Amino acid sequence: MNIVQEEVERLGKNKALEKCIKESNDLLSYLKQKQEQLNQDTDDLKVQDVQIKVKYWADQSLKHEKSLNTVIKKYQKSIDKVFNFDLSEVYRHRIPLESTRCRQLVDRALIMHLLRIGDFEAANTIAKMDNIQVPDQLLSKFHELEEISEDLTVHHRLDKAIAWANVNKYNLQRIGSDLQFNLHKLKFIDIYKKNPSSPYPAYEYAKMNFPHFGNTHLDVISKLMSSTIFTPNEPENPYLDSINLTSSPYQKLFTQLSRDFCSFVGLSSESPIFNTLQASYIAIPNFIKFNKISKMKNEKLDWTSENELPFEVELPKSLQFHSIFICPVSKEETTPQNSPMALGCRHLISKDSLAKLKKRNSSIKCPYCPKTFAANEIQEVQFI
Ligand SMILES: [Zn+2]
Repeated sequence: MNIVQEEVERLGKNKALEKCIKESNDLLSYLKQKQEQLNQDTDDLKVQDVQIKVKYWADQSLKHEKSLNTVIKKYQKSIDKVFNFDLSEVYRHRIPLESTRCRQLVDRALIMHLLRIGDFEAANTIAKMDNIQVPDQLLSKFHELEEISEDLTVHHRLDKAIAWANVNKYNLQRIGSDLQFNLHKLKFIDIYKKNPSSPYPAYEYAKMNFPHFGNTHLDVISKLMSSTIFTPNEPENPYLDSINLTSSPYQKLFTQLSRDFCSFVGLSSESPIFNTLQASYIAIPNFIKFNKISKMKNEKLDWTSENELPFEVELPKSLQFHSIFICPVSKEETTPQNSPMALGCRHLISKDSLAKLKKRNSSIKCPYCPKTFAANEIQEVQFI
């Protein structure tokens, strides 16, 4: 990939086309000027001068064209080198899309991804094509998410997100999310900075909304409140750090909200199809190399297990998942029959361990934190 990047940079640095355009425009102005002189019938027009000028322009243009062609050819060559491969040959265990079941699974993943990013029209088209029913309730939730996204990330308005967090506050507490506080904090900072001459609007907002978070965020609240003694831009303000925003705070809050939202509707926090594509993009050079070696040796190298790659691919932490889970209570590996179960606090134990806990008490107490739960707050976890 570095080779392509180098060639893209080289292509970007080549200014032949710009020079050619500039020189052509200069020549055009010169010719127009001469034409006017001709029209006015002035005597000092020398045809030879014009000829020299035009010839110089033609020579220079040819030179520029050559220089541009050379970099374009090099660029083309390096692109071909990297991307000229047959994907179906490089990756042998392809998804059998002719099977209706497989196609529907892939399309369902695509639809869920499109709903996450708010492209309802495309999601609807695929759903219609494959006769996949997206429940209306889920659709309306995604519409709400889209509205919040636009308000937060485009208009930097927090009200809809705060309203959503208020409605879902118990669920947010259950999964240990501090989204609600983060939203109020940003709103407070926003009001504070928009009213540099008076701290009262921010103070009023804090008085109304921060008391609920005294138990969990007292330290941050104290700093925020103390900062109101100073004007927002006062360099002497010792609490400047607490009111200085990180880069793109609205986008970050939306990412947090979207993760929590997905968790409530039973989806993973990141789009699985996006993660898969990211991992594939990183892995493709390894596949190409493997295929080349395999061809050179004139034999298919050993790649027997479909679920296991014949080489290692270095993926970033965000793309590393663990398909094995050992129950921290029984110390046994979970199986499809004895699957992992998520308690309301998101701690995991195996189904068997949960059954033992259930026998002893009517409500279930998490073995790892002080929280207790009713049976309907426990969900089975699927590792993929
Ligand atoms: Zn717990």
